[in-house]
Amino acid sequence: MNTQGDLIILNTRVVTPTGTQAACGDKMKHLTVIDNAVIIITAGRIVYVGSAEDIDLQQTSLNSHTRLDAHGGVSLPGFIDSHTHLIFGGFRPDEFEWRLKGESYMSIMERGGGIQSTVNATRSEHPETLITKSKWFLDRMIEMGVTTVEAKSGYGLDFDSELKMLQVINQLRYSEHRKLDVVSTFLGAHAVSEEFKGRPSEYIDHIIEVMLPAFKDLADNCDIFCEKNVFEIEDSRKLLLAARKLGYKIKLHADEIVTLGGAELAAELGALSADHLLHVSTEGIKQMAEAGVVATLLPLTAFALREPYAPARSFIEAGGAVALATDLNPGSCFSGSIPLTIALACIYMNMSIEETITALTLNGAAAIGQADSKGSLEIGKYGDVAILASDNYHILPYYVGMNCVRTTVHHGRIVAQNP
Ligand SMILES: [Zn+2]
Repeated sequence: MNTQGDLIILNTRVVTPTGTQAACGDKMKHLTVIDNAVIIITAGRIVYVGSAEDIDLQQTSLNSHTRLDAHGGVSLPGFIDSHTHLIFGGFRPDEFEWRLKGESYMSIMERGGGIQSTVNATRSEHPETLITKSKWFLDRMIEMGVTTVEAKSGYGLDFDSELKMLQVINQLRYSEHRKLDVVSTFLGAHAVSEEFKGRPSEYIDHIIEVMLPAFKDLADNCDIFCEKNVFEIEDSRKLLLAARKLGYKIKLHADEIVTLGGAELAAELGALSADHLLHVSTEGIKQMAEAGVVATLLPLTAFALREPYAPARSFIEAGGAVALATDLNPGSCFSGSIPLTIALACIYMNMSIEETITALTLNGAAAIGQADSKGSLEIGKYGDVAILASDNYHILPYYVGMNCVRTTVHHGRIVAQNP
């Protein structure tokens, strides 16, 4: 296995969006295709991507590069999973079954399920156990072509436990950096903690005064669960403004359960992304598109909860940018499946495969503020590549829910090779 980050990918068909910011509207479907292509990665960055006929591979500067024959397979930019709750204690399979039998959210909470059970389990879990568990998920993601993953805190809901979660995320960022990139998001406002039950505004003040300043070096982004009867618009605005002032990039869980105006707030504040958006208003779609806020849609969650899918086409037709992510979490969506995300986006959200690829690469990168260095196969960007076992990218939704990635390359290193 190459460890130098110097790699030549030969005999491939390059399929990629282009640019250093989110592709919006009509542009989402525009992919560049280069047949009989070569990608050269030096010290982790792409230095050449183009036709094999236009490059001399015998030049001495390439002598030490590892050579990888893609056997004609498609090279896509590595996938970016820009919304996950990767770190959590315990599991909730019983609750999943209760839900399938029709039990209500409230009844599940009364039986000891819901987010509070994950909070309790996460609070009592040893950090090493959380790390081991997360690494298992990360290895599965890498096999599916993921080269960057965002991970949120939010199952601690008190200072020590949120700190523990962020430290775990950062330890993964450090220990796994040779295999994939981990992006850290502080989500202390995921739910109102037991200690502040019925007093969401006081909990927000506590986060602003105590947690936000202390966690700045551990998190790139600050996120909030903006929802009716959880953190409503005023509290959300207050927290996100304070976070932005401290230098956090901001994101929102918005309009998932009811139409509250989270999308409009994301536009007003210039958030990187607003996520979920199952019940976004027409006005919210328009404002997000105008403000350049990425709409991160999470079809696996809608699927697992039997909810209607988010209106991807409305965002695209309004000239907005759509990203797709898995929302891996132990409650509403226990799946990190990129293949199933692709299938659901194409089958149920009426996204074309080209738009879906852009949503999982360039627009995913934009949703975490990294489109300048990731999300497309272009000179200067990181050498993060998902190589398919087929020369036809249309296989991705067609082979429903199955992994079509043969090889994953991160910063020019081969990190997964599927049989
Ligand atoms: Zn989420």
